[in-house]
Amino acid sequence: MIELHDVTKLYPASSRPALDHVTATVDDGEFVFLIGPSGSGKSTLLRLLLREDRPTGGVIEVGGLDVAKLPRRKVPKLRQRIGCVFQDFRLLANRSVAGNVAFALEVLGKKPADIRRDVPELLALVGLEGKAERMPHELSGGEQQRVAIARASVNRPPLLLADEPTGNLDPETSRGIMQLLERINRGGTTVVMATHDDTIVDAMRRRVIELHDGTVARDEARAVYGAGR
Ligand code: ADP
Ligand code: ADP
Repeated sequence: MIELHDVTKLYPASSRPALDHVTATVDDGEFVFLIGPSGSGKSTLLRLLLREDRPTGGVIEVGGLDVAKLPRRKVPKLRQRIGCVFQDFRLLANRSVAGNVAFALEVLGKKPADIRRDVPELLALVGLEGKAERMPHELSGGEQQRVAIARASVNRPPLLLADEPTGNLDPETSRGIMQLLERINRGGTTVVMATHDDTIVDAMRRRVIELHDGTVARDEARAVYGAGR
């Protein structure tokens, strides 16, 4: 799903690379936690996978696409394969729950009849059947994140990138969101989740890739948050 080969990112006017010769492979269907202190390069890595920025060196492949070399006109094709979820949900405040999910389908050029069919299915997937007509501000944080996950799941993307998806949620709500991400992963979607949430990482025992100063400090299967515990 993801191949990183010797990936380096040096931001202009910065002396130290944000990513420094990172090499890693994520197979189809894996669930991977990306951890590391603030400034270790997690967001930079996610941005490179989405082609929001280009590496200074190295090769990045996502689903067989050479991300750095991808011509601009093919970037939408890359992004259609990647669902994204963020700490701050990023819902459209002036659209209902159903409207937020519908919008993502509209952007993909789906027909109105297909959208009417798909929106309730997607809301059922995330357990929000009864909330289609609510506005985002009427929802709890956990419910808003569920809408964001429903929206990210349109098109059944092979890859889901989650950047601190539980960062604004209490532990109980976070567990529910993790169960949802696990279920999506069991459906075959590769999940890469950047997080500082040690409780969740320790409870899930999945692969952990830990960055330090832009390098891979640890890459371990069925791991916990702190090494050697
Ligand atoms: P993390 O997500 O792990 O907190 P980042 O990828 O945001 O780490 O940052 C990695 C390093 O790159 C940090 O030193 C940060 O200051 C630097 N950095 C991030 N974005 C930029 C940018 N747009 N311009 C310059 N430096 C940046
Ligand atoms: P908003 O005002 O938030 O944009 P709308 O009610 O205009 O939301 O709906 C936008 C689109 O969302 C509609 O065209 C429709 O396809 C879809 N939609 C809205 N409500 C539902 C619903 N309850 N079930 C399924 N699809 C819906």
